[in-house]
Amino acid sequence: MFLRCSRPTQPLLRHTDVPLRVTESFILSGYRFPDYSLRECLASAFRPTNETGNFWTHFLGVFIFAFHFVEVFGWERTLPFSDPFFYPFWNYFIGVLCLLTASSMAHLLNSMSLLIREICFFVDYGTISAYTVGSALAYFYYIHPQAGAVGQRFTNATQRWRGQVEGPFPHPPSSPSPELTVFFESLYIPSACLVALICTLACCNTRQRWRKYRYVIRTTVFLLPFLVASTPIFYRLLRPSSSSPSLSGTLATYFYRHCFWLAVSALFNISKIPERLSPGSFDVWGHSHQWFHCCTFLSILDELHMIKAEIRVLVLRPSLALPAMLSWPRPQISGPTLCSTYGVMLSLQGCIAAIISWFAWRAKESHVHRAKLN
Ligand SMILES: [Zn+2]
Repeated sequence: MFLRCSRPTQPLLRHTDVPLRVTESFILSGYRFPDYSLRECLASAFRPTNETGNFWTHFLGVFIFAFHFVEVFGWERTLPFSDPFFYPFWNYFIGVLCLLTASSMAHLLNSMSLLIREICFFVDYGTISAYTVGSALAYFYYIHPQAGAVGQRFTNATQRWRGQVEGPFPHPPSSPSPELTVFFESLYIPSACLVALICTLACCNTRQRWRKYRYVIRTTVFLLPFLVASTPIFYRLLRPSSSSPSLSGTLATYFYRHCFWLAVSALFNISKIPERLSPGSFDVWGHSHQWFHCCTFLSILDELHMIKAEIRVLVLRPSLALPAMLSWPRPQISGPTLCSTYGVMLSLQGCIAAIISWFAWRAKESHVHRAKLN
């Protein structure tokens, strides 16, 4: 059934010819039949429908992101890609890869049936949440004010650096409060996971209720993980190391750009501009969801550059990272382990899969119920 291909290419539909829940605000035409086979869905990537741009804007992003990601392993004097130092980086990669792939596939395959459409977008929301935890893991091990204590290599660098400094530390930054220390060391990753699960629940719910405010809810609930995950960056920016201002400057530049693209993407998602200004003119190309995808991808790319800049310092020039680190009450945090990175990510993905299965089951029940009524 999935590979059925004998029928001729289906004509595209207007918004009045498809079920109401399939329609998008101010998009009047370019809709596909809601009963496409898998083959027809895949072929529609090369047809100008109102989902074609949504698919390509995130699918091409996979390759651009991967290109910039692997660059780290080509640096001179870098660590092997399998070194535990890179576990958080790989988890970040998994988070982004799942997000871009699930998003592009959700847009491509959502016309197989109304039920599959629901499941596609449940998976889409789940992968966005998993991505935020991948970011939090990378921030924790590379941007956390005590980051860099990630193994023997760094310990040696610390000792070397301490040996080179005579007398007290020049312009030592003040120590953070004990509450902040406890938050970063014990609560930061659990909070990021909890918020990710809450966001998945809230976004999946907008497909079954609260539909009128769905764009606002989906946009605002993802502000919360951003705020939680970014706390190490806020700390670093508010207490820049006086001994390495260039380090804080690089972090700030990439972070502000990351925030800028996120803000613009939110604007597109909520305002539905430009199609709101001229309904029907942007049905296939140039509508707000495509701009939303482009801006979210650019925000991810700037986030990747920010993480890479921190990794570069930790791996190649650890002495630059030390001033911020040494302000922390304890000398170092534990380095990443399989359990604290892949273990966290897998457990989270398991919980998200359980939430998605529950919503998919509810969606199936409601479809069966509606079919009986008709
Ligand atoms: Zn999308």
